[in-house]
Amino acid sequence: MKNESTLLIVESLIFSFHTYAGEVQAVRGVSFQLEKGQTLGIVGESGCGKSVTAKSIVRLNPDKPSGEIKNGRILFDGKNITELTEKEMQKIRAKEIRMIFQDPMTSLNPTMTIGKQIAEGIIKSGVSSKEEAKKIAIKALTMAGIPSPEERYDQFPHEFSGGMRQRAMIALAMAVNPKLLIADEPTTALDVTTQAQILNLIKKIQKQYDTAIIMITHDLGVVSNIADKIAVMYAGKVVEYGNAEDIFEYASHPYTWGIMQSIPPEDISNKEPLKPILGTPPDLLHPPKGCAFAARCPYAMKVCRCIDAPGFEVEGDGHKVWCWLYDERAKQMQKTVNPITGKEV
Ligand code: SF4
Repeated sequence: MKNESTLLIVESLIFSFHTYAGEVQAVRGVSFQLEKGQTLGIVGESGCGKSVTAKSIVRLNPDKPSGEIKNGRILFDGKNITELTEKEMQKIRAKEIRMIFQDPMTSLNPTMTIGKQIAEGIIKSGVSSKEEAKKIAIKALTMAGIPSPEERYDQFPHEFSGGMRQRAMIALAMAVNPKLLIADEPTTALDVTTQAQILNLIKKIQKQYDTAIIMITHDLGVVSNIADKIAVMYAGKVVEYGNAEDIFEYASHPYTWGIMQSIPPEDISNKEPLKPILGTPPDLLHPPKGCAFAARCPYAMKVCRCIDAPGFEVEGDGHKVWCWLYDERAKQMQKTVNPITGKEV
């Protein structure tokens, strides 16, 4: 449902890669929407399709013949992304949607100073004067918490530490005041302290600029303090979606239970062993029939291996889960206790 403040609608998105071995269905019917100024966390193991979904929004996935959006609509600020020309997309990527990645070195040019790279991005977004671009770049470095920004402006990426490079990437992305920032595992390569600092910085920026954010991560803990909504993805599909507080309080999908139980506790004196999710994700070259999590799910029933579960409304506001446990017939068949809430599902 679209309202005045909706910035992005992704509807039934299907993205496939064409390999020598055949078609790999990386994203299999993903839908969500994002309001202006909100943060959506997309969470799941590597290979679940979260990055491919994010890159589809900016059309950065390989294009035909090796990859293609096979179905679905991506409406960004009223424009259908799937129908735009590459030139129109370049404009959107320069100004309206910016992305930051896990490894800033893959996005930064090692032979150009940080300041020049940020200023160049500002000029591409439409600022014509070089002096003005430099001023905005220094302001962006300051906003990103980089000390002595005037001196740092003239330094090269290798002169920055890992955390400072990620701050520089944030400055590069935010200098043009985009409507949407997509952060793909932005803190994965950082130590815990720097990770917390970068997450705080992203949170601060969001408040200051009212930017919408999509935060892609394998770690539910990363989005716990930052996300308004969370989409949990497994094998190319969203399996649980809702307000962040509902997901944490009433997690309902067995896969979400699994990832929650494998988060290390904040209290280091807690010696409870972590419970990893046993097994491996399915091969999306040959996606299984029915629920893709069935082979790893301790609650799997016969129906799970035959038919994909529809979405069921569960506790919380707009909280949905795609799992047969919430069908009335399953409830009559077996008793299942939600390990997070301790209640019967
Ligand atoms: Fe487990 Fe079945 Fe739910 Fe899939 S649909 S998560 S197999 S209970």
